[in-house]
Amino acid sequence: MKPTRLWLLLAVSAGGAFTSCGQSADVGPAPQAPSAVVAPLSTVDCAEQASTGYVHGESFPITVVRVDGKPVELDTANAYLVMAQAAESDGVQLRIVSGFRTYAQQAYLYGCYVNCNCNNCNLAASPGYSNHQSGHALDLNTGAPGVLAWLNTHGATYGFTRTVPSESWHWEWWGGGPGGGVCDQPAQCSDDCRTDADDRVAVSGAPAGFGYAIANASGGVSSFGALVPHGDLAGQWLAQPIAGVVVTQSALGYWLVARDGGVFNFGDAGFFGSMGGQPLNAPVVGMAVTPSGQGYWLVGADGGVFAFGDAGDHGSVGGQPLNASMVALAATPSGQGYWLVGADGGVFAFGDAGFHGAMGGQALNSPVVGVATTPSGQGYWLVGADGGIFAFGDAGFHGSMGGQALNAPVIGIATTPSGQGYWLVASDGGVFAFGDAPFLGSALVSRRCDGATTQVCAPGDDGCYHWQVETTCADGCRNGVCAPAGCVDACSQGEERCDGGGVSECGQVDADPCRDWGPPSPCEAGKTCLAGACVTPCEDACGEATVRCEAGGTSTCAVAADGCLAWTAVVPCPSGTHCDGGACLQAVDPDVVEPDPDVVEPDPDTVEPDPDTVEPDPDAVEPDPDAVEPDPDAAVVDAAIGVDSGASEEVDGGDIEAADAARPDIGPEADGAERDGAAADTELDTGTNGGGQVGRSDSGCAAGGGAPLGTLGGATFLFVLLYRRRRSPGATAPAPTAP
Ligand SMILES: [Zn+2]
Repeated sequence: MKPTRLWLLLAVSAGGAFTSCGQSADVGPAPQAPSAVVAPLSTVDCAEQASTGYVHGESFPITVVRVDGKPVELDTANAYLVMAQAAESDGVQLRIVSGFRTYAQQAYLYGCYVNCNCNNCNLAASPGYSNHQSGHALDLNTGAPGVLAWLNTHGATYGFTRTVPSESWHWEWWGGGPGGGVCDQPAQCSDDCRTDADDRVAVSGAPAGFGYAIANASGGVSSFGALVPHGDLAGQWLAQPIAGVVVTQSALGYWLVARDGGVFNFGDAGFFGSMGGQPLNAPVVGMAVTPSGQGYWLVGADGGVFAFGDAGDHGSVGGQPLNASMVALAATPSGQGYWLVGADGGVFAFGDAGFHGAMGGQALNSPVVGVATTPSGQGYWLVGADGGIFAFGDAGFHGSMGGQALNAPVIGIATTPSGQGYWLVASDGGVFAFGDAPFLGSALVSRRCDGATTQVCAPGDDGCYHWQVETTCADGCRNGVCAPAGCVDACSQGEERCDGGGVSECGQVDADPCRDWGPPSPCEAGKTCLAGACVTPCEDACGEATVRCEAGGTSTCAVAADGCLAWTAVVPCPSGTHCDGGACLQAVDPDVVEPDPDVVEPDPDTVEPDPDTVEPDPDAVEPDPDAVEPDPDAAVVDAAIGVDSGASEEVDGGDIEAADAARPDIGPEADGAERDGAAADTELDTGTNGGGQVGRSDSGCAAGGGAPLGTLGGATFLFVLLYRRRRSPGATAPAPTAP
């Protein structure tokens, strides 16, 4: 049996697990053993949860309820519940062993199958292709007395058919039956909030400060601790589910990578290319970023590495026969190397990455799912789906979940900046903190802060979901959990200030979840810190608010864009006036202004101009509001310059306002605005500027016969045909998709 499994694995890996050439049959977990004791009563929880279903590898939103504690698609559940009630009245107790499966759950079972290290090596469809993911399949307790016989006789009446001849437990519902299950009730109320039943697929620690981001398969991102949300893909259509998340060095952004190689950047994360839209031999499973943040690597399940931006090509295992599929990639601190990690615990070191040990070739209780490196790069941790930790090199062991019962498999590991602790994250969003890693909240259920009170999204008496008060925290609420005693924020998240010659940012810089000022980042040479930002130093050219005459007009001294005082652009004096002493003055009779040289001492009556001219008509000085610009600043300027109010439309007080407004432009607000602009949630899953496929074999789908694995692929293809024919469902099987 082992060679058969290997052949199938090669067919899937070489052909691409998400193309038509890698199809395989679905086999659920082993049915529950017949039990002598009376089975507990079946349980139903009609509270609807949102999740993500898959048909032919494509995702769609799906609504699930819980039957016997298992998530089941809503319509399938209603059909099942009617059937289960009928069976109950015949004295037969139906139970659901496995219902709807999330992507992570199917990926886990598939990993067990291909690596043969869990779930009894049971055959499982590749993730995205099981009818447990489309919501139509249920594995039932056919090992219990009378159950199979009852289903064979009555199942079709309720729309249920057995679709995999070799699996007595696998039944599917595609419509039909009397309808009217207990969860088929019209909504009597509406939800204020929802819990997220979607599976989590990746976690990344924040290099700056204590925090982490958890991503789910649908592209939702939950941020904790030092991280604040920068947007995500929740609710957007994705060609393929998300496989990885990486937080930027600054912790002010992150990347998501999808299994088709699409890269999505948020916050201060840059886009440097992706494999989105290009054919891949195997799905992308991981991502690592260069120290500069100006490039990244993607790794495929076949060990192929794709480098983008300033990420260098240091080699790969793409195209080489592997004992297990690759699951993760981690870069060295220098960015001059990386490690690839396989599900069997194998470690492949490239570039300046040192080999410090591996689990390859040793028996594992469950597949390895993630890797994290120490700050020095002289060690690493591997984590298994069962929460087991394997520490190598200078990586310290700070605890694990190995040997403990988990509600959901662990999907990844993130470390603290010190490397003296780590978080493990399970597919249900649960977080386990070890060493100096503080617990900062989990994505397990939806929680939020309401002032100093934590609230949880939970079903109320009406059956709908509402925010419900959980705990009133003595020292404030952070990310839906209570902050530890004595925790007081020194500043606001993301706030910036000058500290010495550099900029200090407010965030979660130490183990407590409170906001503190971080160590300053020095300004680059020639710049100085001003109002929380590094700027080029400048000198004031004039005294603030002074006005001078220049080129027939006035120029005012105001704050320029660089933060220093400078002369603004000349405002021409209104026609009939001239500038004198910083003010536009009404011209007097030319005969008087340019006195007759003969008249050495002008007549005082003439020198003193007509009062009607020098002191304007009060009607003109206080003009009709309708006729004159109502801007009070403009009026002030008018008064200061002392001209006919009719000039107010020409002497633009707005210029001075604009100059004043220039000051905040150099402050943190403007900086934040720029960052927000750059943070536009750009979906960029096409194009490959500067990137390239590294060390990948050219083998195509099984039937394609690519160069290195062509013969192998052809043989596999034949086998798959034979295999599928043998496993082909009977005539009663619904056509839509493979089980
Ligand atoms: Zn099944």
